[in-house]
Amino acid sequence: MKGVCLCIHPFFSKSMSLCAIPSAQVIPEESIFSGYESSHPLTVKYFKVMQDGTYWFQRLLTIESSFMRNVHEMPRQVIQHVEKVQGQKEYDIIYGGGGLAIIHAALMAKVYGYSVCLFDKYGVGLTHRDWNISYQELLVLRDCGLFSEEQLQSFITCSYRSGFVKFHDANSAIKTPHLWMDNVLDNALDANALLAAARAIVIEHGGVILDNAQFKSIEVDGRLASVHILEHGTQKTLYTPLFIDGMGAFSPIAKALNPKAPFTHCCPTVGTISSGFKTGTGEREVDFSVGEILVTNEDMLPDGRQLIWEGFPSSNNRFVTYLFFYDAIDSPSDKSLLNLYELFFEKLSSYKEPGEHFDIGRPLFGIIPSYSHKALGNARKSADDNILCIGDAAALSSPLSYCGFGSFVRNLPRMTQALHQVLQSKKLTVDSLKSINAFESRVAIMSNFAAFLQGKKGQPSNTVNETMNLFMDVLASLPKHISQEVFRDTMQWESYNLMMSTVPKRHPMSYKILIRTHGFWGLLRWALNFVGFTLSEKRKKS
Ligand SMILES: Cc1cc2nc3c(=O)[nH]c(=O)nc-3n(C[C@H](O)[C@H](O)[C@H](O)COP(=O)(O)OP(=O)(O)OC[C@H]3O[C@@H](n4cnc5c(N)ncnc54)[C@H](O)[C@@H]3O)c2cc1C
Repeated sequence: MKGVCLCIHPFFSKSMSLCAIPSAQVIPEESIFSGYESSHPLTVKYFKVMQDGTYWFQRLLTIESSFMRNVHEMPRQVIQHVEKVQGQKEYDIIYGGGGLAIIHAALMAKVYGYSVCLFDKYGVGLTHRDWNISYQELLVLRDCGLFSEEQLQSFITCSYRSGFVKFHDANSAIKTPHLWMDNVLDNALDANALLAAARAIVIEHGGVILDNAQFKSIEVDGRLASVHILEHGTQKTLYTPLFIDGMGAFSPIAKALNPKAPFTHCCPTVGTISSGFKTGTGEREVDFSVGEILVTNEDMLPDGRQLIWEGFPSSNNRFVTYLFFYDAIDSPSDKSLLNLYELFFEKLSSYKEPGEHFDIGRPLFGIIPSYSHKALGNARKSADDNILCIGDAAALSSPLSYCGFGSFVRNLPRMTQALHQVLQSKKLTVDSLKSINAFESRVAIMSNFAAFLQGKKGQPSNTVNETMNLFMDVLASLPKHISQEVFRDTMQWESYNLMMSTVPKRHPMSYKILIRTHGFWGLLRWALNFVGFTLSEKRKKS
């Protein structure tokens, strides 16, 4: 019987640090898969042959159960406001979670000189996703003083010349050709290499990293916080004036701050990095110079889910394929990643044709959160006394692109500068921290478009494809920079208005789709988001 109590991941073997799966979750390989062999035969088959497949399967199961808990259970009382925290400051900032948080920590340590400590229940700087971003957006990490341009280039595993969006139109009245875009998500990054470099910066600047340490609870008094963790099964308390929550979509802190809904919408996503697809320029072949940003090749499933593919080269011979769908948290749709993986393996050859030497490398998966703001500004709580949420724990990335990494990078300089000022003022109360977040009104308004991508049970199966073909037709008729802005989360107010006024001109009956999708309250929320967008533009200009 093969056990998996210690997994030496390639990234950690480089830095000679062990990535140990927390002991409570150590399960022998046979038993982790055996319960799923009959219900998810393809998923089990492929995870068994992947490198570190048992480890990744275990992380998949953890997300699955965290998601159920997060949606259906009451929040745990993890934050306690006390009169006085007893203890002495050990670090300027402590971070829970070692994904995007380590980039933030590296910047705060290197550029601003703060002492930092990071912990993660797995390994700090080990993620199960890779990121795509345009080169121009990536350069923010150079401009803010974190990495050199050479370093940034070393994280890029592949760049493609152009990308497209294409919705299935066999059953649509409007048929739209591929919408081509340059400089959109056109660089594939090795996320773990980037995070490893950030980890090295943290260590170089005296930061402390605790792998296999799980957040339990926090006490705050507005001046100091005591953070209780379980490190390798042993309880420990750490003291800091500022705790940054980077524990992702299922952060217990985010749930405690937003008991009803830490996020309102989500994008369950599964995929792999694989090699050996048939290459060429045919629809089901892989062209290593092209990125496929959003592609559908069938109408909605009977339960209302509109499955969407994404595919892009990740290195010379490897290709990333994702399958995902847009959803609302309170919808009855099946959000199980395991079930989605089974569909992924079943349907993969309908998207890209595996060749003779097809080989599945690493899995990539997650439930990406987003928040729909029924307000003029940010309606999501992402701070408390001595606490600030970032990344997926703040759920402020685009509900249309779900590019959480892109949103984080775009807002990093603004957020860290503002945080530096608050840290200097030593006023770490909720009132000082609550405005430090990645909220952007131009991004918030796009949740109204994202609604068109979300199918519902009972609708005609071509609903999403037909609507998106209409929208792609409008974008194709407009200057190219507008589609770039839509898919790069950088919508300009003037572009937005041009786009909105073109829809009824090109498609006079589109108001019917608008009313069907949004209803009265939805349109009111859209109007509210638009007023918020307009006011924020006015503020920027004045
Ligand atoms: C398959 C996939 C592809 C994506 N592709 C892109 C892309 O191309 N471009 C883009 O911009 N965005 C992309 N995204 C979105 C982006 O990856 C996320 O927004 C981003 O990774 C979120 O990072 P995070 O650190 O906030 O959260 P996470 O990556 O979820 O990290 C949270 C960390 O917290 C740890 N943690 C959780 N609970 C605890 C606890 N109790 N104690 C201690 N530690 C804990 C976890 O172990 C984890 O390491 C993609 C997402 C997915 C799922």
